[in-house]
Amino acid sequence: MVLIKVIKSSIRKNPNAGRTSGFVAGRTVCEDGIQTRDIQRIHWITPEANYICEYENPDLECSGCHGKFKANELRADSLDFDTWSNRICPYCGKWDCCEFEFEKLEEPCHQKKLKS
Ligand SMILES: [Zn+2]
Repeated sequence: MVLIKVIKSSIRKNPNAGRTSGFVAGRTVCEDGIQTRDIQRIHWITPEANYICEYENPDLECSGCHGKFKANELRADSLDFDTWSNRICPYCGKWDCCEFEFEKLEEPCHQKKLKS
């Protein structure tokens, strides 16, 4: 199991903290030379976190073909709403090809750090 670590210098306040809705751009339609684009409001259950951060990009290895690649090269795909993976090997296409975990932000600790 690889632990993907937080880049400490990237931790910052989330300008959208607490938000539970936002907008997404829909399809663009061109009719009689006039372009219009649907804008839709979407809602989600979990409020956005107080802090956001970036993660390191470690080397990972596929359990199928043993190819080595960077974590951000993993592919994602879904068969349907319940069957999906964001751990697909970029070389052989094996689903759930490696195991990793993202380091968790300990919010109370970082809040103290950022206030000082
Ligand atoms: Zn592979």
